[in-house]
Amino acid sequence: MKSTKAVVKMMEAQKGDESIAPLIEEVLGRLGEDPKRDGLVRTPERVDKALRFLTSGYQMKIEDILNGALYEVKYDEVVVVKDIEFFSLCEHHLLPFYGKMHVAYLPQKKVIGLSKIPRIVDMFARRLQIQERLTQDVAQTLQQVVEPLGVGVICEAKHFCMMMRGVEKQHSLTVTSAMLGVFKTQLQTRNEFLSLVRRNGSNF
Ligand SMILES: [Zn+2]
Repeated sequence: MKSTKAVVKMMEAQKGDESIAPLIEEVLGRLGEDPKRDGLVRTPERVDKALRFLTSGYQMKIEDILNGALYEVKYDEVVVVKDIEFFSLCEHHLLPFYGKMHVAYLPQKKVIGLSKIPRIVDMFARRLQIQERLTQDVAQTLQQVVEPLGVGVICEAKHFCMMMRGVEKQHSLTVTSAMLGVFKTQLQTRNEFLSLVRRNGSNF
């Protein structure tokens, strides 16, 4: 039988709010470091804080982000928000991957406040991710909340797990895309999006 205290502690851990600092201290020791030396004394606490920020997307809700910023507007041209910077953590190595996302949609009845699109990107980037799913998450969410005729998302990223270890390729760029609705079925719409993204170059 587990004591009440142990059960309460487990429940706290399930909520994800129990500090991971003691575990980081353990990790530092196992890496052969001295967790008590000056520079490292407060590192476990800092890592706890940093990881919580970098995974804060789990606590974000789409309703809070939208906050009513959907407008009925007669506009039937493609809307594109280019070069949205993002930083994420790969779920395989817990190393960063970062880059730019280009998001487009073709409105049907509603448009979304433009500043909301980067916030939707952040909501999904600040989780443990793989680039393919991050790209889909953003596209599907926009499709669901705005109900446009289609959504296009292109994501270009560099992965530290490829740059610092593994194949050690510092300059390779991984590109993923998600095309929904008319962005999938109509070549003209997709090409319009691609040419808008290519203009001025989108390299970083
Ligand atoms: Zn990785």
